[in-house]
Amino acid sequence: MTQNKWDDYSSIFNHDDLTVAFSNRNFSVAGKSGHISFVSAVGLDPDKLAFPKQIHSGHVEIVYHPGIFSNTDGVISPGGSFNCSVQVADCLPVFLTNPKSRTVGLVHAGWRGLVLKILPNTINSILQIGESLSDFTIVIGPSIQACCFEVRNDIIDQFDPTFYMKNSKNRFSVDLQKWAVQQLVDSGIIRSRIFLIDKCTFCNQNEYHSYRRNGPKAGRMIAIIGWR
Ligand SMILES: [Zn+2]
Repeated sequence: MTQNKWDDYSSIFNHDDLTVAFSNRNFSVAGKSGHISFVSAVGLDPDKLAFPKQIHSGHVEIVYHPGIFSNTDGVISPGGSFNCSVQVADCLPVFLTNPKSRTVGLVHAGWRGLVLKILPNTINSILQIGESLSDFTIVIGPSIQACCFEVRNDIIDQFDPTFYMKNSKNRFSVDLQKWAVQQLVDSGIIRSRIFLIDKCTFCNQNEYHSYRRNGPKAGRMIAIIGWR
């Protein structure tokens, strides 16, 4: 097991004062106190934290104050005044930043979010605040991958056929990461500015919690991005 208490993706963004962190199983983030202690541990101010009360929606909120945002699954802070955070356990944590404007954001995208176009909606929100998509870098963090994410006939119609295939169990293996990348590229993000962390939360059980593996009692990982 890794000794680090969180994964650090800040080097991908190549900015010394930007923190991009993802808790792993070595750090308990349960409850409000766990969330706040994680924010402090990575060197960010808990009083500047903005995070959604997630509902697997397609909605993203532009935030101009810290706090909890209901009925949304992503937060974007123009100018990076606030630290953005989401929690996941198999769903995709999508980190984004524009180093020129210092805007940061984090989106929780599971299969329902992808169906509900949360990533195109995120890009529309960025355009609404007048920013250029070519300035953005995006990281998709650890999440359940095609090796372990399968669905049955009943919901497969909601998925893009490009990103699934029938497996030996007569179910469908879905590649949520590739689907997410395609949605971002189709929305105008430059492909070479999208980075995938190639780690499956289901396979890597020593490192990550997984809802599919552990069920409703599964723990969560906290993703956070912000300027120190
Ligand atoms: Zn896997």
